[in-house]
Amino acid sequence: MAGKTATRGAPMFKVRRSRVHGQGVFALRRIRKGTRIVEYLGDRVSHREADQRYEDRDERDNHTFLFIVDARTVIDAGVGGNDARFINHSCDPNCQTVIEERRVFIEALRTIQPGEELHYDYQLGRSRDDPPDVDEIYACRCGQASCRGTMLWPPKKKGVRRAATGARGDKRSRGTPAGAAHAPQRKRAAKPVR
Ligand SMILES: [Zn+2]
Repeated sequence: MAGKTATRGAPMFKVRRSRVHGQGVFALRRIRKGTRIVEYLGDRVSHREADQRYEDRDERDNHTFLFIVDARTVIDAGVGGNDARFINHSCDPNCQTVIEERRVFIEALRTIQPGEELHYDYQLGRSRDDPPDVDEIYACRCGQASCRGTMLWPPKKKGVRRAATGARGDKRSRGTPAGAAHAPQRKRAAKPVR
């Protein structure tokens, strides 16, 4: 791991306004493919606690700083989070998330040039009680040719999907494996189930 993380004194990225969505994170220098860029930090809480924190949130507010670690744990970057929370979504991302020992890291999926915005696929989940226009609420404006128009993961249907960025023979949990059941993903603040 050493040597692949940020070199001290030479920051790899900075946060500034993005044309895609609010703030974004931009490369300050060339970041080579496979580089571990930053850890996704924040308060580690249960899904229930995360849901309770944001239960009064407007259903039409598409902001989320939650990241699913596993069935037990969510990282809430709204509390004690770092710059990783500002990395925007893209349907054709240059980064991916990797979960290792229940920690979440953002790594370069390809070599990134200085000035490029960093992004990964949020793969936000769907739920049965979503409003009909949920794709509009979570509309994606990444501008990529392969943009699916939404930050939400496609509805489960057609069996095997194309593995957009995953399936590279790595044992670690990768960004977008075909199965996607336990893919690293951001979490939408949901109404707690009662
Ligand atoms: Zn898109």
